Parts: sequence; structure tokens; C-alpha cells
Amino acid sequence: MRQKIVAGNWKMNNDKDETKQLIKEIKKSIKKLSLKSTRVIVAPTFVNLALAVKRAEDTKIEVVAQNMHHAKNGAYTGEISADMLKSIGIKTVILGHSERRSYFGETDAILVEKVNAVLENNLETIFCFGELLEDRKSENHFNVVESQLKNGLFHLESTAWKSIVLAYEPVWAIGTGETASPEQAQEMHAFIRGIIKNKYGKEIADTVSILYGGSVKPSNAEEIFSKPDVDGGLIGGAALNAEDFTAIIKAI
Ligand code: PGA
Repeated sequence: MRQKIVAGNWKMNNDKDETKQLIKEIKKSIKKLSLKSTRVIVAPTFVNLALAVKRAEDTKIEVVAQNMHHAKNGAYTGEISADMLKSIGIKTVILGHSERRSYFGETDAILVEKVNAVLENNLETIFCFGELLEDRKSENHFNVVESQLKNGLFHLESTAWKSIVLAYEPVWAIGTGETASPEQAQEMHAFIRGIIKNKYGKEIADTVSILYGGSVKPSNAEEIFSKPDVDGGLIGGAALNAEDFTAIIKAI
């Protein structure tokens, strides 16, 4: 059975007090939910990560990082290594978010180094990818998604896939209020699972969780999550509010 996951990507939001408050509210509101195999994840900014880990101790909330540098340590001003993350109890790192790709120049080649570093450090990654609006308009979206997936992950051995969660995030749906329709999400997720099956076989394809991201909110979550190949969501805006985030968790 595949893991169901609802992950909140807080991006560059929430100072120290807001971080404490939001974790407190999420803790309270998910307490009574029977989450069974559903994972609840939040990704605060680096400065608040250690605090968030402490505040989420002994709860269902997993705290993860939004990014990581591939090097072990050294002269990389402003960067954060796997050892640093592990030393505060982080086990999972989001990589390849479209904002990292577009604003910070993260190429497929850079992402390969980051993915390798994550896996060498026995961490898990939530690996993000997705096409631009122009790719979809020119009907090139399947090619773009296939190449991001192959370039970023298909050098890996089969055994690495137990540490990988995929997040398909069409860039035109991120923070725009425009969501891919449940049918568009399902179509792409099935396509992604198909390419993984061709390369790694049915078992890996059937067990890898594929999250959808892009303007998921309480009003559309249930329908998107009802699709057979959608195993949860990576949530931006709606994850900044405990009530909305909890409603999305309930939808799964
Ligand atoms: P959004 O962001 O939910 O605000 O569209 C999703 C994401 O970037 O992960």
C-alpha cells in the first residue's frame, strides 16, 4: 500500500512566534483525527527548523527541510548541509521545487548532486518537478515532466526508491489559484507511474507516493485526492493556516 502524505511547504513565511503558533494549532487540530497511515509534514524555514522539530516532538507532525546543499561542509556561504539537518533531527528534504529551479538556478545536474547527497546521508527526499504554462500550451508537458524525472532520478538504483516521494507541481498552478483539474492531475500521475514502471518495474511504480501540488485548498482537495494515482499533496498557501491545512488532511 502506498503512503498518503499531506505536506505543507511554508516557503519564506512565518517568523519564530508564527512558527510556534502554527505548529501549536496544527497539533491541536489533528489530535482527534485518525490518521492511520497518513503522514503529516511541515517544512518551515531553516531558521525555525530546530524549534519546529522540538515543538512537534511526540506528535504526528514531521518537520522537513525545504532545501539542502550537496557538499558535506566548507566554503558555501549561506548554505545548509545534510549533517546540519540531521543533527537537529531532520529526516526528509524537499528538492527541486520550481521556485528553486527558476529563482535560484537549480538545474537537473545540480539536483542530481543534491539527490545523491540526500540518499548518501540516509535521508528521504520529496522531489518536485512540473511543466511551465508554455509547455502545457504547446502540448509538451509530458516530455518536460519525463525529462525532469529521468534527468533528476533515473540514475538511481532501485533500492534508492524507498527514500523517494514525488511531487508533481505544474508551475502554472503554483500560487496562482489555478489548479490542475483532478483529471489533469490523474492523467499526469498515471503517466509518471508508467515511466517509473518501465524503468524500475511494477513494484516500485506501485509503491512510490506521488503528491500533487499547485493551489490545493479545502474546496478542491477531496476531489484531487480521490484520483487513484494521487497519493496526497504538497501545499503552499493553504498550509499557512491550521484550519485550511487540517481540512486538506481530512480530505485525504
Ligand atoms: P500553492 O504552492 O499551494 O500555494 O500553489 C504549492 C507549492 O509550491 O508547493
